[in-house]
Amino acid sequence: MHSSSVLSLSNCSVLKRSHRNQIEKLSFTPLKNLRFCGLRNEILAFEFLKLNRCETQRVRNFLRNKIVSASVAENGNAPTSFDYDLVIIGAGVGGHGAALHAVEKGLKTAIIEGDVIGGTCVNRGCVPSKALLAVSGRMRELKNEHHLKALGIQVSGAGYDRQAVADHANNLASKIRNNLTNSLKALGVDILTGVGTITGPQRVKYGKVGFSGSEVTARDIIIATGSVPFVPRGIEVDGKTVITSDHALKLEFVPEWIAIVGSGYIGLEFSDVYTALGSEVVSPLLNL
Ligand SMILES: Cc1cc2nc3c(=O)[nH]c(=O)nc-3n(C[C@H](O)[C@H](O)[C@H](O)COP(=O)(O)OP(=O)(O)OC[C@H]3O[C@@H](n4cnc5c(N)ncnc54)[C@H](O)[C@@H]3O)c2cc1C
Repeated sequence: MHSSSVLSLSNCSVLKRSHRNQIEKLSFTPLKNLRFCGLRNEILAFEFLKLNRCETQRVRNFLRNKIVSASVAENGNAPTSFDYDLVIIGAGVGGHGAALHAVEKGLKTAIIEGDVIGGTCVNRGCVPSKALLAVSGRMRELKNEHHLKALGIQVSGAGYDRQAVADHANNLASKIRNNLTNSLKALGVDILTGVGTITGPQRVKYGKVGFSGSEVTARDIIIATGSVPFVPRGIEVDGKTVITSDHALKLEFVPEWIAIVGSGYIGLEFSDVYTALGSEVVSPLLNL
């Protein structure tokens, strides 16, 4: 990799001088001639610096609460003319929002997506989870015979069709994904398909992993590569007995009993959905 590299945080702004000074005080190679602009796996950024685990952790700790924005620039042979004013890597809601803003500002923009447009929120997050929550809410109401009776409503044997519930969530995601794709196209944003890799200053390669792919140049690059589910060390995800939120949203089965690790809002949402659909749910408190 080139001597410039990238940090991975999801927010995007400019690395302040005070932050840069603090990073440089962390006793490893100074960050020369770098401009930062936002992305995932911040630690990858430092691979080329050959940090040991301890240094890496210190960097990670330092960056955790900082808003760092990323783009690689000014090192090596930067192109003098560009295919695009802006190339965005990652077409989740972050990349999509950035693209809309860029177009509004008159920038010639491309977005690179290695999987599906819409990213986590549309395909594996907010959208399907809210579709499932809508079902769980109604199931609870329909099962509350006592309350319904007080209202004068009689319902007996409320049930659900698992596949139909899953299909509804999936179809909703697919509809919103299409809308998002169409809105990008309508605005004149070029959608480049494949995994994006920054190959040098203001140069991004995209295409299938392991293939040569194509390269574009850009005055600026935004890295909006989002996140993937965190799996604690030592746990193997098999998609059957151990699953992540990605699997859980597909609702391929409703287990009789489920332990949900993580009680943030995502864990709570799944507790709501799966209890309403008949699972017994526990949320172990683990010191991971
Ligand atoms: C179950 C669940 C429910 C959620 N509910 C809500 C909610 O109700 N409200 C809310 O605000 N948030 C919610 N979230 C969080 C929300 O989904 C994320 O905050 C949001 O998706 C982040 O968007 P992003 O664009 O930063 O990243 P992502 O959505 O992760 O998008 C990143 C994109 O970059 C692509 N990518 C990654 N690397 C590369 C590469 N090298 N080249 C090309 N493409 C690449 C990925 O394929 C992906 O499409 C939820 C999340 C989950 C998991």
